[in-house]
Amino acid sequence: MSHPEPHDAHPKPANFLRTLIERELQDGVFAQRRWGGSPGDAAHHATGGADPARVRLRFPPEPNGYLHIGHAKSICLNFGLARDFGGVCHLRFDDTNPEKEEQEYVDAIIEMVQWLGWQWDFNGSAHLFYASNYFDQMYHAAELLIERGQAYVDEQTAEAMRASRGDFTTPGTDSPWRGRSPAENLARFREMRDGLHADGSMVLRAKIDMAANNINLRDPALYRIKRAHHHNTGDRWCIYPMYTFAHPIEDALENITHSLCTLEFEDQRPFYDWLLEQLAAAGMLQRPCPKQHEFGRLNLSYVITSKRKLRALVDEQHVNGWDDPRLPTLAGMRRRGYTAAAVRKFAEDTGASKTNIWVDYSVLDGALRADLEGQAPRLMAVIDPVPLKLVNWAELFGAGHIEPCSAPAHPQRPELSQRQFGLGPTVWIERDDFAELPAKGFFRLFPPRNDAAGVSTPGNKVRLKYGMVVECTGCEKDADGRITAVLASVLPDTKSGTPGSDAVKVKGTITWVGVHDGVAATLNLYDRLFTEPQPEAGGRDFREVINPTSKTVVSGFVEPALATVAGDQRFQFERHGYFVTDRIDHRPGAPVFNRITALRDGWVK
Ligand code: ATP
Ligand code: MG
Repeated sequence: MSHPEPHDAHPKPANFLRTLIERELQDGVFAQRRWGGSPGDAAHHATGGADPARVRLRFPPEPNGYLHIGHAKSICLNFGLARDFGGVCHLRFDDTNPEKEEQEYVDAIIEMVQWLGWQWDFNGSAHLFYASNYFDQMYHAAELLIERGQAYVDEQTAEAMRASRGDFTTPGTDSPWRGRSPAENLARFREMRDGLHADGSMVLRAKIDMAANNINLRDPALYRIKRAHHHNTGDRWCIYPMYTFAHPIEDALENITHSLCTLEFEDQRPFYDWLLEQLAAAGMLQRPCPKQHEFGRLNLSYVITSKRKLRALVDEQHVNGWDDPRLPTLAGMRRRGYTAAAVRKFAEDTGASKTNIWVDYSVLDGALRADLEGQAPRLMAVIDPVPLKLVNWAELFGAGHIEPCSAPAHPQRPELSQRQFGLGPTVWIERDDFAELPAKGFFRLFPPRNDAAGVSTPGNKVRLKYGMVVECTGCEKDADGRITAVLASVLPDTKSGTPGSDAVKVKGTITWVGVHDGVAATLNLYDRLFTEPQPEAGGRDFREVINPTSKTVVSGFVEPALATVAGDQRFQFERHGYFVTDRIDHRPGAPVFNRITALRDGWVK
């Protein structure tokens, strides 16, 4: 397999799942399992040899929306454990619910799991499955339960069923249909299948215990009638299995050893075990049966990870589509410039725990910056440009002179080639690198002045990074008093890298881009989408705390090296942060960059 390498230098954090799997493998818990080369029942697997996969896990998304950072957590956990223990992780589309599922989502999910760096090939075959391909086996399982007296067709109304289920303090009461014979139930169930009954008129239920403490064991529904077109099986079925019935069977047919799910399914585990035990006892399923293990859901500060709410953000146009760089969808994060390695590192660092966890956004942001720091080439960019005119340039060098300058592409990677750009008579600088009346401690450009007491302060000197030292002489303004240009004179013999260039000491260094060779660029500056770390705290509607300035688009200038830059590249714009070419809007020659994140953690509270 060519999975991402286990995370390079640092040891993997232990978690309860790792510990458990290690022990089970030592004890040979799964050693008896056979693998028939594809998913199937006990008879099918008996035709194969010992399962070459030491463990089998699965990531089972419902193809009804786009994957988000919470799913990434589950993906990395499942695929990572499979990789680390010599097994395989199946990608399974849990598409047993007709109506809601669409091919668009299937394609998008495949793309994002691959983007994260995972794949489902093992022993020369792909382990990508669709739960809807198991409808026949699920149907067969239902008939088996009926024959064994463990399932019955209930014709009570939905309300009556709800009422007779009882609650935490009251046991349920038996349905009047509970005593039917297996033969009667079988006939009825086949009528359901054959379309002889109306939608919702009856359901197939397991016959377990209406007084069970766990309400999920009070004869849960297994099959319902629903005339709906299914994306894979078309109109072949008018009955569909319930998720709680379908999922354990999917796991068992696929020989899953560890069925990981989030904590809200904990109460379903007894039914999961009950069902598989019955079907194994009936000889349909191979033993040992899969086991369900729950882990805590990931919640991230400033982020919402519910498909339904993300859909609302998209539909109500608070953001521009599922891949909006402000969304925690994987498509959005990729467009924002997140690296797959950073997402994997984040998933690994946040481990697997037995409680739902809130993780501070700075953990994700830190993983991202740690990954980008070592690789992103450095460049200068001016985000809020104002021209700086070098008033003595013509006199010193001649009006048309351009002084060639260069700088390392990366401070720790001298093997990378230097970047080249020119210093000319006018350069772009940041508007806030000039202050007409500087605050205390401001070391960048300010003009000479005389205060009320007659004390005169000279204009301040700064270094144009990788260029020369300049001394501010004043500024130009328009009729409204807005500054239209900053003025400075160049100090001769101060060019960076030349002998004696540091003879003039300065306290500030500013970044700049030449007016003659700077490249105009559109810069999308993103900020958090919500103003509150827990947008829904106390039952608040997340719409109330949408950050109105989560996206700012500005026109800036970047170094000439980026004039024809191709797509999918990340840079550090010195002093400003990390930027990526936008996947959709960027064109070589007309660059569009998204700010991925700032240089320092802006998320700490
Ligand atoms: P959502 O609530 O966003 O609709 P889901 O749980 O319904 O998510 P599925 O597509 O049904 O999404 O789930 C795929 C897998 O991803 C499941 O195993 C689910 O438990 C897991 N998963 C979803 N959200 C998270 C999360 N925030 N943290 C960890 N795992 C998650
Ligand atoms: Mg769900």
